[in-house]
Amino acid sequence: MRMLLLLFSFLLSTGEAFALLPVIESLQSQNSSNSPVILISMDGFRADYWDKVETPYFHELMKRGMTASNLKPVFPSVTFVNHFSIVTGLFSENHGIVNNSMWDPFTQRAFEIRDISEVDRSEWWEGEPLWVTAEKQGVKSASMFWVGSSAEIKGVRPTYWLPYDRSFPRLKRVLKVLEWIDLPEEKRPKFITLYFEDADEAGHAHGPESKEVKQAIKNLDEALGLLWEGLKARGIEEDTTLLLLSDHGMAQVERENRIRTSQYIKLSEARVVGKGAIALVWPKGKKETARILERVKSKPGHFQLFTKENMPPQFHYSKHRRISPIVFVANQGWYLDTDLFPSIKPAVFGLHGYDNSLPEMQAVFLATGPRFPKNQKAGEVQNIDLYPLIANLLKIKPSQTDGNFERVSKVVGLKSK
Ligand code: AMP
Ligand code: ZN
Ligand code: ZN
Repeated sequence: MRMLLLLFSFLLSTGEAFALLPVIESLQSQNSSNSPVILISMDGFRADYWDKVETPYFHELMKRGMTASNLKPVFPSVTFVNHFSIVTGLFSENHGIVNNSMWDPFTQRAFEIRDISEVDRSEWWEGEPLWVTAEKQGVKSASMFWVGSSAEIKGVRPTYWLPYDRSFPRLKRVLKVLEWIDLPEEKRPKFITLYFEDADEAGHAHGPESKEVKQAIKNLDEALGLLWEGLKARGIEEDTTLLLLSDHGMAQVERENRIRTSQYIKLSEARVVGKGAIALVWPKGKKETARILERVKSKPGHFQLFTKENMPPQFHYSKHRRISPIVFVANQGWYLDTDLFPSIKPAVFGLHGYDNSLPEMQAVFLATGPRFPKNQKAGEVQNIDLYPLIANLLKIKPSQTDGNFERVSKVVGLKSK
C-alpha cells in the first residue's frame, strides 16, 4: 500500500494519475492457468544498475522472484542483434541481424536501424521469433515494441503490435499492456513484449556513471511499479510471469579515445559499415584487403582487427554472408569513427557493442511467476537460452535454436509446474 501511495504521488506530480486510475484498478477476473508471460526489456540497463539508486519496485520484484548475476549478450553487444537473439535463441550469425548497420552483398541493400522502411523488410529477419512460434500454434501475442515485431517474419506478425515510436510515453506503454490483459479470454494475448529505451539513451548521452542514468533507472522503476500495481489490482500478480531484462550494458568513453578508421582504410578501397564499437569493412578486392591488413600491422591501435577466417570462435560470428571479410572491434573505452572531421562528441559519453564477455557489457535478468523460486540470487544466464525457456513457459513447441533449455532451467531454478 505504501508503494502504491508513492507511485500515485509520482503520477500526481506528472498529472497522469486520474486518467490512469480506472485502468490500474480494473478488476476483471482472470483465468490463472492462462495468465500471460510478459517479456520486458530496459535497453542498455547494465548488470550493476539495480543498486545505483533507490528502486523500491525492482527490489520488491527481486523478493518475489529470482535474479541472475548477469545476462550474457551475444556478439556484437548492440540493440538489434541482442533483442533478436533473445526472441529467436540464435547467435547473430544464425539470425542474420549481424549489426545495427549492415550491408548484404547478395541483395546489395543497406540496413540502418533508423530507416524504418528498410527495417520492416522481411528478408533481413531469419530464424523464428517467439511470437511467430506462438501465433503458428494458436497462441496470441502482443508487442508494445520489440526489435523485429513490425516486420512480417515467416509471413507472421504478433496479433497486436505498434510501429516503433521512441517518443511514445513510458506509462502509456504500460497501460497498453494492461489493456491487452483486460481483453476477453478469446482475444487476450498470452505472450506480451514491452520495451523501454530510457537507460540506453541516458547512458549514451552522459555515460553510465551520470545522474541522468540514475534518473532513467528511477523512471523505469516507477514504470514497472505501475505494471505491478496493475497486476495486483487484478489479483494476477502471482500467476503472471514477468521476465525483466536488458540487451547489453554500457561502458564509459572519453572523446579523446577516437580511432579514425580513415588512417587504415582509404575511401576508395572499401565500404565501411557502422561506427562506434564495431565497424564492418568490405574491401573491393584481395589487393585492398592486403593493404588494409598491412597498415594495421604496421600501426596497431586501440582496437582488434579480425578477418572472417580468424574470428574468435566464442563470438559465433563468422557464418553469415552479412559478416564482412574484415571486422574492426574497438577496445572497451575507445570508439571507431569513419568521418574525416573533428568529433562533436561530449567529453564523456557511453558506448556498447564491444566483446560480449566484458563485465561492462553484461545485461540483467529477473524473473517472477509461478515457475520461478522466490527471493533467489542465481548465476549467469545466456540470452540465447531465453527462447527455449519462454517456449516452455508458454507450453509451445520450440523451433531449433542455439539455446539450451536444460542449462537455463537449472540456473534459474525452474519449477516443473
Ligand atoms: P543502439 O544503442 O545503437 O544499439 O540502439 C538503441 C536504439 O535502438 C534506441 O535508442 C531505439 O531508439 C532504437 N530501437 C529500439 N527498438 C527499436 C525498434 N523496434 N525499431 C526501431 N528502432 C528501435
Ligand atoms: Zn540496446
Ligand atoms: Zn545503445
